[in-house]
Amino acid sequence: KESLSKTRQGLVEKIENLITGRQVIDESLYEELEEALIGADVGVETSLELMETLRRRVKEQKLRDPARLKPLLQELITDELGTGDSSLNRGGPPTVILVVGVNGVGKTTTIGKLAYYYKTRGERVLLGAADTFRAAAIDQLEIWGRRVGVDVIKHREGSDPAAVAYDALQAARARKMDMLIIDTAGRLHTKSNLMEELKKIRRVLGRELSGAPHEVLLVLDATTGQNAISQARLFSEATGVTGIVLTKLDGTARGGVIIGIRRMLNIPVKFIGIGEGVEDLQPFNPQEFAAALFD
Ligand code: GDP
Repeated sequence: KESLSKTRQGLVEKIENLITGRQVIDESLYEELEEALIGADVGVETSLELMETLRRRVKEQKLRDPARLKPLLQELITDELGTGDSSLNRGGPPTVILVVGVNGVGKTTTIGKLAYYYKTRGERVLLGAADTFRAAAIDQLEIWGRRVGVDVIKHREGSDPAAVAYDALQAARARKMDMLIIDTAGRLHTKSNLMEELKKIRRVLGRELSGAPHEVLLVLDATTGQNAISQARLFSEATGVTGIVLTKLDGTARGGVIIGIRRMLNIPVKFIGIGEGVEDLQPFNPQEFAAALFD
């Protein structure tokens, strides 16, 4: 709850301030609320839709008291966030999870947290270091592996990422792992190469194990606001993303971006990152999230 305080300030407290002291619900209030949503990175389209529904509800319910708008907005935003099934698609064993995203969004950290999350729930987890583009990426993953007590399958820097994925899958089977989480490169400046690389990894995994990868998790950085949406489009066109992890929701006022993700992308948010620590990853629960923002 603490971790959402900036987004709370940027969105909910702004809404509260707009409403307090008002006597009537009028057009200028609607406009200011709309601006507050857009300003909190909810996204223009989603903000307009929310406001349209708000107007309709106010009319239907013949509301006159501006104070009623806050609970109504909470309800609409909760609906907008969806029903929130954060459980992962499973298969195998092992369940194979490919983790994709641009460098710096928190991909490696998220993989470490995910490994910890499932390990503490009794699963046998293995990591695959298929970001072979940077030696630092392999090192970082190993550091996380040691920190949470899971092994990492790796090759040398510059080797074929699909070969790492293949070896990691063989190792996961041989060691009877429940889950294999594979890191991938995130260099965006050579975009087409990266997308081809991801497709090749997918092909290799799918050939070896039916249904694999069972999840393609896209890691997005909440502090980039609406830019996260365009990144998501790029990756989902190329790799068929099945779930989103939205990181760095702590300390950003731009967390409103989460509200529009479902409408804009039709991909469920499965986890949220709320800090740098190993336990700072939570399954995304829309009701709890909205309540944490509003209550
Ligand atoms: P990668 O390049 O995508 O693998 O990014 P990293 O995992 O190395 O993370 C980049 C930076 O973001 C690091 O300093 C992480 O500690 C930080 N980070 C990752 N996730 C979160 C989060 O949920 N909250 C905060 N505050 N920082 C995060």
